[in-house]
Amino acid sequence: MDLLIITLGLLVGSFLNVCIYRIPRGESIALPGSRCPHCGIRLKPLDLVPVLSFVFLKGRCRYCSQPISWRYPVVELLTALLIWLVYEVYDITPTAAYYVVIVCILIVVAFIDLEYQVIPNGLVLSLIGTGLGFKLLDGGAGFIDGLYGLVAGGGPLLLIAVISPLLFHKEGMGGGDIKLMASIGWCLGWRLVLLSFVISIYIGGLISLLLLAFKVKKRGDYIPYGPFIVMATVVSMLWGDGVISWYINNFW
Ligand SMILES: [Zn+2]
Repeated sequence: MDLLIITLGLLVGSFLNVCIYRIPRGESIALPGSRCPHCGIRLKPLDLVPVLSFVFLKGRCRYCSQPISWRYPVVELLTALLIWLVYEVYDITPTAAYYVVIVCILIVVAFIDLEYQVIPNGLVLSLIGTGLGFKLLDGGAGFIDGLYGLVAGGGPLLLIAVISPLLFHKEGMGGGDIKLMASIGWCLGWRLVLLSFVISIYIGGLISLLLLAFKVKKRGDYIPYGPFIVMATVVSMLWGDGVISWYINNFW
């Protein structure tokens, strides 16, 4: 079963790569036929085998031998890993299916934000739609929690966006981040989104410090916040319920 899940995860990751490449360019993700971005040649199925084709072709296009982005194998492996983790924690359940869809959208969000510093509205809307769909399937359960989550997710970031230009004279939070966090709250409810918010601050702070320490970034450089929200949310989805009940039992 594990092997099947991982294989499926790699194939899904390969599709997410197509989304990451095409969505910011306004191209359709439904049309088949991946092309090499350098020479434009239509790739054959054998060129598209996740990870393996990258390894065997030594990271280069078979036809024009231009380097293929590291992003392709990374996204494939990451997708497979995260889908497998969801399966490990939630088994084959409706919750697992719900979380896999959310994780996939979040992976696309993170890599587009990393590369283009933008979170496309279409992805935020597909999160909202996914949340709505599963709430309807579940007999409308979680609607109220979703609405609280929308406010709990969007509210703190909106506050930071309003306050930080006044205090620090610079933009603290982009509109895309606020919409992303609000839609995550809608999907996961107010408890998990608040946890995501807190974790995102820690992850964001830690990684920003490391990037500065290793001189990958300079002070004042722009570091997109979307990937931190995504990492934090994945942690919340996998282990958040446990963290929250541990916290309530010990500190409340
Ligand atoms: Zn090529």
